[in-house]
Amino acid sequence: MTAKERMAIPAQDMPAQDPLVRGKNMKEVALGFTAEQARLEASRCLQCKTAPCVSGCPVSIDIPRFLGLAADGKFADALGVIRQASLLPAICGRVCPQESQCQAPCTLGKSLKNPLLAVGIGRVERYVADACSADLPLPRVKPATGRKVAVIGSGPASIAAAADLCQEGHAVTVFEAFHKPGGVLVYGIPEFRLPKAIVDREIDTLRKIGVDVQTNFLVGRTRKLKDLLTQDGYDAVFVGTGAGLPKFMHIDGENLVGVFSANEYLTRCNLMKAYDDGRAATPIYRSKKVAVLGGGNVAMDAARSALRLGAEEVSIVYRRSLEEMPARQEEVHHAVEEGIRFLTLKNAQRILGDDQGRVKAVETLTYVLGEKDASGRRSPVAVPGSEALLEVDTVIVAIGNDSNPLLRQTTPELGVNKNGNFVVNEDGQTSMPGVWAGGDIVLGAATVILAMGQGRKAAAAIHRFLTAL
Ligand code: FAD
Ligand code: SF4
Repeated sequence: MTAKERMAIPAQDMPAQDPLVRGKNMKEVALGFTAEQARLEASRCLQCKTAPCVSGCPVSIDIPRFLGLAADGKFADALGVIRQASLLPAICGRVCPQESQCQAPCTLGKSLKNPLLAVGIGRVERYVADACSADLPLPRVKPATGRKVAVIGSGPASIAAAADLCQEGHAVTVFEAFHKPGGVLVYGIPEFRLPKAIVDREIDTLRKIGVDVQTNFLVGRTRKLKDLLTQDGYDAVFVGTGAGLPKFMHIDGENLVGVFSANEYLTRCNLMKAYDDGRAATPIYRSKKVAVLGGGNVAMDAARSALRLGAEEVSIVYRRSLEEMPARQEEVHHAVEEGIRFLTLKNAQRILGDDQGRVKAVETLTYVLGEKDASGRRSPVAVPGSEALLEVDTVIVAIGNDSNPLLRQTTPELGVNKNGNFVVNEDGQTSMPGVWAGGDIVLGAATVILAMGQGRKAAAAIHRFLTAL
């Protein structure tokens, strides 16, 4: 096929549930390509020699190669190529911000002068992972080395580290504080974006290859990190404890009944299945009018979850404009379709309560955009005297997360930066001998693929360390 013919193939639309229907259920919004759509979308790839998409991918997947195989209908082979670099393609195909990574520099999008017409790399990745993962044989595990590794946390950084280390023949135990493993993939990202059965399958694979997954185990309380090395016989430790400490606005009224951190709200909804009326053991606040403070992916997830939990009106309150919003465009688009209101250039100044101490309104201020700040975005400047009241019964604060302080408080040997993130070298090694770290605990709140990439890098370094013992 010539380049001209490839460029003439229309970009394939992702089938999705009707917005009016999906706002009332938790099922996945995007339904996935058909085999023919996957083949057609992959055929749009120009097979560029320089492959700028590969340099945009944090784990350097050989994108033209997997797309070439998918274009020929060789979906299982395409999945094999992806899995050489990424262990979680069904997850990354769904939640990676491809538009700012591999798809951003795509030659096709540039030639057609529209970034939205870049090859839908993530959508093809999702298709081949969904179609062929069940047929994959279990990864081969090398003979036992007699070495023991503890992996703390069970998010994508830890899943990747545990898988690689187990395959090298080391005995790996994952310690997870929650009752269910998977990290943000299970307690944060909602079912309607990432079905939990997909995460369960990855954890199941870990168990089947021999990883021991211990839940309800809070390292720092149940056992100290140091105990694992000095008393429990572990030769090395990987820390992937993430960034689970919610930030608050520190405004009046944040302690009223009906104010939640997005973390708590999403954990109740996703991990504790609060949407499963009559069956969920942990209840959730019933809301009619909800304000979500923030403009990132977490804010979109909280707002769209509130809608599905029965709220009649959900407003995102964001102090910059839509253009500066850090959330993925696709998520904003889906939220708009579902009827979420966007109150941009507004910020909460205080939260007002009734005589029972329950939220009754948010007082907002209007903002204009001034000069660019350190993040490269124009900074919001409040307009004096622009106070207005937004009547709500629930406020969800979604302005970001810091790293969990428990391990650094109970392990003074670990070097941290001013934000409380672990300081590591290029291999992920911390200042404490025998301890590596990766993912959000190092990067601050980042992405699934970056966490996974760091887990793999640290696993390679731990394997070298164990081999030299
Ligand atoms: P986590 O996934 O945070 O996992 C850490 C695990 O460690 C948790 O299970 C925690 O319970 C456990 N733990 C913590 N302390 C201890 C301890 N002391 N002992 C034992 N266990 C412990 N990224 C994307 O790429 N795309 C998205 O669309 C996206 N959406 C997001 C939506 C939400 C709501 C959130 C919160 C994040 C989102 N992210 C997204 C970010 C992404 O999920 C994270 O960057 C990624 O999960 C980080 O992985 P991790 O392995 O470092 O840690
Ligand atoms: Fe294909 Fe785009 Fe990558 Fe070129 S940049 S190889 S067109 S996916």
